Amino acid sequence: MSIDNIKQNAINKRIPILMEDTLEVTKNILLQVKPKKILEIGTATGYSAINFSSILNNNVYIDTIELDETRANEAIENINNMKLEKYINVIKGNAVEILPTLDESYDLIFIDAAKGKYPIFLKEAIRLSHKGSIILADNVLYKGYVMSNYNKHKQRTAVTHLREYIKEITENPNLETKILEVGDGLAISKVLN
Ligand code: SAH
Ligand code: MG
Repeated sequence: MSIDNIKQNAINKRIPILMEDTLEVTKNILLQVKPKKILEIGTATGYSAINFSSILNNNVYIDTIELDETRANEAIENINNMKLEKYINVIKGNAVEILPTLDESYDLIFIDAAKGKYPIFLKEAIRLSHKGSIILADNVLYKGYVMSNYNKHKQRTAVTHLREYIKEITENPNLETKILEVGDGLAISKVLN
């Protein structure tokens, strides 16, 4: 099992893993920030967490939360196969319930799960961060729906909550934010104080 196998398996199962350009940008951020502790919301099968770990030469500890039991188990299997179980801890469950039970400080938080929950995830991410922490959020432009006035019913809740997320990160004076049009939209927020 290699990272390429993990990627291909996820693609075959239509699991929305990190897109290549988003991974490239994230890689640069990781190499610059050199986080020692990362929190990920949305493990899927571990593709992003394994990439983060290898980019940082395993010089990092990652807590990652996954709601779907099958995916979480596959992630654990992939992480074991890559011999990364000392560095990546998969927490099974709903991040909305798990985040309030965490009480640690993370250098980087990567949000990549249910779009309708992004405002809740942000509140918790801010609580679990410190001065200089980076909060990344994937899929914030949601295929352009976020910028369009026409949204199907199916997308409406996600769009409303993503707009709320963007409003909060751009208006909160304690966050310095950039939104990049890579992949499905990546928001990069730095905690100032
Ligand atoms: N970060 C992964 C992709 C994550 S896809 C990668 O790039 O490899 C989004 C994942 O978030 C899905 O597996 C989905 O099951 C999970 N998810 C959705 N809502 C969640 C929630 N409330 N808590 C935890 N995980 C959630
Ligand atoms: Mg994503």
